[in-house]
Amino acid sequence: MYPLKYKVILTVLLLVILLPLIYSLFTGFSLFESEPSYLFSVMPYLVVLFGIAIILSPILLETNGHWACFFIATVVMSVLSLATGQYYYLFWLIVLLGISIAIHVFYKQRVDIIGKKINAVKKIKEVVNVVKLHWQQAEAFNSALSQRLERYRSLRKIGESFSARLSIEDICQLAVETACEMISGTDVAMLFLVNESQQKLILSASKKVAELPKIKSKTGDIFDKWVFKERQSLSVEDINEDFRFDYIPLRGERYFKSLISVPMINQSRIIGILRLNSREKNSYSFDDLRLLDFISDLASSAVNNARLYKTTEELSTKDSLTGFYIHRYLKESLIREVDRARINRSLLSLVMIDIDHFKDYNDKYGHSAGDKVLIGIARIIRNNTVKCSQLIARYGGEEFVIVLPDMGKDKARELAEKIRLDISRRIFFLRRKETSVTVSAGVASYSDEITKSEELLKKTDFLLYKAKKEGRNKVCVA
Ligand code: GH3
Ligand code: MG
Ligand code: MG
Repeated sequence: MYPLKYKVILTVLLLVILLPLIYSLFTGFSLFESEPSYLFSVMPYLVVLFGIAIILSPILLETNGHWACFFIATVVMSVLSLATGQYYYLFWLIVLLGISIAIHVFYKQRVDIIGKKINAVKKIKEVVNVVKLHWQQAEAFNSALSQRLERYRSLRKIGESFSARLSIEDICQLAVETACEMISGTDVAMLFLVNESQQKLILSASKKVAELPKIKSKTGDIFDKWVFKERQSLSVEDINEDFRFDYIPLRGERYFKSLISVPMINQSRIIGILRLNSREKNSYSFDDLRLLDFISDLASSAVNNARLYKTTEELSTKDSLTGFYIHRYLKESLIREVDRARINRSLLSLVMIDIDHFKDYNDKYGHSAGDKVLIGIARIIRNNTVKCSQLIARYGGEEFVIVLPDMGKDKARELAEKIRLDISRRIFFLRRKETSVTVSAGVASYSDEITKSEELLKKTDFLLYKAKKEGRNKVCVA
């Protein structure tokens, strides 16, 4: 009930009192033989010392110690009384008994009060502890909440940055950079996009936080393929311990120990995978996986938007049958090309191609057969211009214009001849029947006489008309 410190102090005090008492007792006996009066004079002091011992003992022994002291005193007094024949010392015993009873009652009460106080203090301590615990919990909750708020704010910003981008490359790069920044412990972030036609993953963006070897698996490893196949998030705490995967790393890829990976899903189609690697084991929590999932959702819809935008842009500038630019786009672009040729004093040529007697072909084989011919011719034109032109237009119904920057008249004529020849040799099968078409072409170049885009177009058109007039299946050059 009393703290140990007090008990030690009281024990020392009691010993200080009792030791002289015992010492006096023994010397008293020996002195008694020589000088009995000495013992008599010592006796009152002994009694006082006993009294103090009795008073202090309950504190030390907790309420019952004074009985022990009383017992010792009785024995000592009795021995002294009998030894000296002074029986009145027994009177002191009665006095001591009285004191002991009084002390017993007194300490009993005190102990009860102290006990109650201690219980009350204990209860208060318990309450304080509970309050402390609640306080700590509230603090932890508060800091988690502010952390979430901070995350929410940055995610909102990221969402805005995602929606502001229309290039797929930019979006992929933003996704890996955001993931690296927001999910600590990450050493490498990778984003794979799905190649729809081959159903394969292609590494489209990556970010390395530390100096690490190059990413070898450009089409994803066993973990990416799992996510791709299962369309589920994956968390591997230690790649060497995970029994699901028999991972054999490529050379230089042994550095990572844990990873998280999430599928990028759009309109229930998997369009890619976002993955983080860490060199440490158990680097990622469930919260991290959730955050990565959120970033992947933002990236997925941004990629989808960018794709839609690209398609819309293409639809508004490109012809759906041939994939070539439309008339309006060509006219706008040609103005820029002519300006560029004038400023840079560079070459610029134009080839205009028209199918010969296409109306007759349509009448004979039908419009859809004509469409197939248009697609075939477009392919031949594209194959021949892969390296030299980015600007090809379907100028009219069955007319094509090829803009050839940095190409002179002769080379342009050669190209037009090659296309004409390729087309004339091409056989289109229609209901097991072999058919073919020929084209005529006009070729003109930017020069001192032709300095405007309309003039260039007009000249090329004129040369095409000339080729028609001269018997078709022909190329005419200015
Ligand atoms: P030529 O050029 O040799 O003088 O004779 P042509 O019969 O080809 O005459 P023109 O160039 O004026 O013919 C245009 C024809 O092209 C009319 C139409 O039947 C056909 N045509 C135009 N656009 C399309 C198309 O999108 N699909 C199909 N199948 N035919 C088309
Ligand atoms: Mg025509
Ligand atoms: Mg024609």
